[in-house]
Amino acid sequence: MKTLNITRYLNLTFGGLTLSAVILFSLYYVGQRHIIAESYHRLSREYTENMHNFIQQRFEEYEHQIKSLTRAMGKYNDIESIITSPDKTKFSQALNLMPQASALIISDMTGRFVRFPELDKKTASRDFDPRTRPWFIASASFDSQAKFVPPYSDSFTRQEWFSVSSAIFDQRGLQSGVAAIAIKTPALMKKLERFRGPAPGRLRLVNDSGEIIMGPDIVDKSVFKKSGRSQGYFETTNAWIYYYQLEHPKWYLAYEFPKHEFYSRVRGESMTVIYSACFGLMMLFICWGGMHFVAGRIENVLTGAILRKKSAGNNIDLPSAMENVHQRRMKLHSQAMHDGLTGLLNRRAFDHLLQDIQENKRACCIALLDIDNFKSINDEWGHLMGDDVLRRLSSLAGEYLNQGDIRIFRYGGEEIAIVFLEISTDRALDALEKLRVATESQKWPHGRGPERVTFSAGLTSCDLLGVHAAVRKADALLYEAKRQGKNRILT
Ligand code: GH3
Ligand code: MG
Ligand code: MG
Repeated sequence: MKTLNITRYLNLTFGGLTLSAVILFSLYYVGQRHIIAESYHRLSREYTENMHNFIQQRFEEYEHQIKSLTRAMGKYNDIESIITSPDKTKFSQALNLMPQASALIISDMTGRFVRFPELDKKTASRDFDPRTRPWFIASASFDSQAKFVPPYSDSFTRQEWFSVSSAIFDQRGLQSGVAAIAIKTPALMKKLERFRGPAPGRLRLVNDSGEIIMGPDIVDKSVFKKSGRSQGYFETTNAWIYYYQLEHPKWYLAYEFPKHEFYSRVRGESMTVIYSACFGLMMLFICWGGMHFVAGRIENVLTGAILRKKSAGNNIDLPSAMENVHQRRMKLHSQAMHDGLTGLLNRRAFDHLLQDIQENKRACCIALLDIDNFKSINDEWGHLMGDDVLRRLSSLAGEYLNQGDIRIFRYGGEEIAIVFLEISTDRALDALEKLRVATESQKWPHGRGPERVTFSAGLTSCDLLGVHAAVRKADALLYEAKRQGKNRILT
């Protein structure tokens, strides 16, 4: 037996809703995380590009400076003449103009050298051969290009510097020496670090075989060699690495975004989705709670009401209870439209039908029928017999007027109205006539009723007149039939 259980359906509905909401929010969360991660990648790449531009510009300045210095030095034949030349102060001043440059060293091909800032006697006299230094080796090849030399430990200061060097050519076009500017790697690094990235990551310069020029060491150096691309990003176990290659030298500027930092930011920003999901679910639960409460109350009221009617068992048969309610409603409706005595449709139903005919312009004819001398039947045989006569005539009418759509109404007292829908007046008259003959020849048990019961009627079509005028016309015809001697039908 089905039992009354609104809360069960409610729980199922809310369960479904919650599940769908959770699935939707999860999909949205994943999508949102992807979008945020992508935007961090974009930001980091832009940052790397900007840092690359900055370094590139610095390097171009160094290159330009060393080239113009070596050009100026070309007119001197040896180191001594440079030291004694009026340009000497210009050279040391040029050094001051270059950011992060800390020393300028000029050596001739025999290893004699001069260094700005100048060394004190003790340091200078040390056994030092510039021809063994990386910058000299890089530029001793009769090549006029400026060379960027990876960091090495400076012989005098023991600091990690890298240098930009260039060959010096004399006026005859022969190489007379090499000049190099030493750049303080940590100072340049510090300068770079002043530009804040999307997150505190680490910047570094790497050469094309992955060796570190500047900055902290990198985990997987081979990636740069493998990639063969001038810019992009890749993933190592612990970090995202974004890189951008310089034009000259072909070094890479790389920016490392630690993964734990990267994902904690992505998580942090996508938290709003989680918060809204929690809020949404909370609202759903509140609604569920409220509806659960109301449903519980409804269940109680219904259960109480049904139990009062059927005091059997704990199970409430909801479908049959609802069926009963439906049947009761139908019964009430039927009662409202029927006459209690005759079972015919009543005056209210008649008015409804007239309105419907008028609105829908349906073809019909209407008859009004009145029992002849009914008062005397009442007087002679009593009201109960009068009622019986009414019932009999009604059932006879039902019997004889059953061809097509014919509606029979108790119009009032002993008057009956008949509406013939979509039926011609001739056919209606025919049927009425048969009813009239049947009524007058109706036999009553001997000594227990009137000898003869007859009726008079007026019949008219409502097609031309309209229903209300047709009713008036039928009434007038009925009156005329009575006047002409009763037991007849006039049209
Ligand atoms: P006529 O041939 O001119 O129609 O005469 P009549 O006597 O039928 O006319 P009248 O209208 O004077 O009488 C109708 C009577 O019908 C009056 C009323 O007491 C009676 N009547 C009306 N409704 C009922 C009913 O439901 N039951 C009974 N028993 N009598 C009713
Ligand atoms: Mg009458
Ligand atoms: Mg009457």
